[in-house]
Amino acid sequence: EVRVRFAPSPTGPLHIGGVRTALYNYLLARKTGGKMILRIEDTDQNRFVPGAEDYIRESLEWCGIELDESPWNGGPYAPYRQSERKPMYMQYALQLVEAGHAYYAFDTAEELEEMRERLKAAKVATPQYNAITRMTMKNSLTLPEDEVKKRLDSGEPYVIRLKVPRKEEIRLKDLIRGWVMVHSSSIDDKVLMKSDGMPTYHLANIVDDHLMKITHVIRGEEWLPSAPLHVLLYRYLGWEDTMPEFAHLPLLLKPDGNGKLSKRDGDKLGFPVFPLRWQDPNTGEISSGYRESGYLPEAFVNFLAFLGWNPGTSQEIFSLKELIDEFSVERIGKSGTRFDIQKARWFNEQYLRAKPDNELANYLIKALAEHNITTTPEKAEKIAGLMKERVSFPQDFWQEAKYFFIAPEEYNEKVASKKWNSQSVAVFEDFKNELPSLQDFNADTVKELLVGILERHGMKIGQVMQALRLAVTGAEAGPDLMQIIEVIGREETIQRIETAIS
Ligand code: GLU
Repeated sequence: EVRVRFAPSPTGPLHIGGVRTALYNYLLARKTGGKMILRIEDTDQNRFVPGAEDYIRESLEWCGIELDESPWNGGPYAPYRQSERKPMYMQYALQLVEAGHAYYAFDTAEELEEMRERLKAAKVATPQYNAITRMTMKNSLTLPEDEVKKRLDSGEPYVIRLKVPRKEEIRLKDLIRGWVMVHSSSIDDKVLMKSDGMPTYHLANIVDDHLMKITHVIRGEEWLPSAPLHVLLYRYLGWEDTMPEFAHLPLLLKPDGNGKLSKRDGDKLGFPVFPLRWQDPNTGEISSGYRESGYLPEAFVNFLAFLGWNPGTSQEIFSLKELIDEFSVERIGKSGTRFDIQKARWFNEQYLRAKPDNELANYLIKALAEHNITTTPEKAEKIAGLMKERVSFPQDFWQEAKYFFIAPEEYNEKVASKKWNSQSVAVFEDFKNELPSLQDFNADTVKELLVGILERHGMKIGQVMQALRLAVTGAEAGPDLMQIIEVIGREETIQRIETAIS
């Protein structure tokens, strides 16, 4: 059985890259009939941010990503919050010490700083606590055994570090990148247990993936450098034969392709990088979210799925169900994906347009209510149908459709001066005078009337259309004007033309 996990740290709002990671895990779980697990990785208590966990939960719910096991709905391997699993980790660290793959280290912060200064002075590019430098430091590999015991017994603070071999080629197979080779000399002796008795990310992550029987680790590329270390941990803990498969997702890049997408790019270019609005509990600063910006969750999910994956065909619109059917890890790209907010908007437009008019009408009715305007469902539906090709977000309905309810107060001067001449005014004059005589008032009869009047004046429809649109709606463009007039109604249309030509 496939078991995948999304393992966020509650250190702030979930970034869209994180949502994408959750989505890909979810798609694989559902595609294979496996399980989707969520684990909160909160061992770094200094970075804990209140509200972040709720934010993660709400974001996934909004996207329709369901969890089979999580801190919120439990499961056979509970608890799913690492801080609540704290007592479980020490035994594995001790097992590693026992086997000679980890050791106690007593170095103080000052001593560690001194070491770094010393190495920097010796022009070592990346100072590390490793196979060479560990021999100059205070740890159970350099201190006599009874001294180590004495320090431990007296309660002196210590950490437990992994003993990374000095010269070894570590290989790992990534489902997206193929074989990845890393030399052990580039890895330092990572701390596994901190002096406060909490495990570090590395130890907790491996222990939990093992205990929770995770089969595939799908996560962002920024974790690729940690993967060789994780391979060593699996090996030293004796879990190598059940080690999960790895898939490191390509980076989300800035719109110009230069580097990783950050919150600042969003601020600068005016698009959200978070699924939901977020207010920083410390600074009070508010970041916009896709939900609040008017994105439909289906459109957002479809857009995210395509940031790194493609179906290999030209089809772009996929429901969540279709994504599940089509998804495969093999079709995830290796190289970074440029972030394109226009594409997100395009997806939103497609999903909006696909909705039935009576559903779209509700967006309009809601927006109207905010402006104390009421209308009938039939009228709202007709307008929604006329306007849906022109909106990107539900809230656009108000901006685009308000002229159906509010007469224009001003007219674009440039258009007016060019098209609004004595000839067209004469036509409008007749038009509004003859409108009351129409038996049936609808788009077709109105058009017939107008065409007849134009013929009498020896003019073509193209000569007055824009001016008439301006007079009736105040806008320069829009859907078929005759349809608009039908919705606006006879009295109101006459009124508006009178105002315009008076
Ligand atoms: N807690 C890590 C994070 O915040 C998880 C990395 C992983 O999936 O192994 O991204």
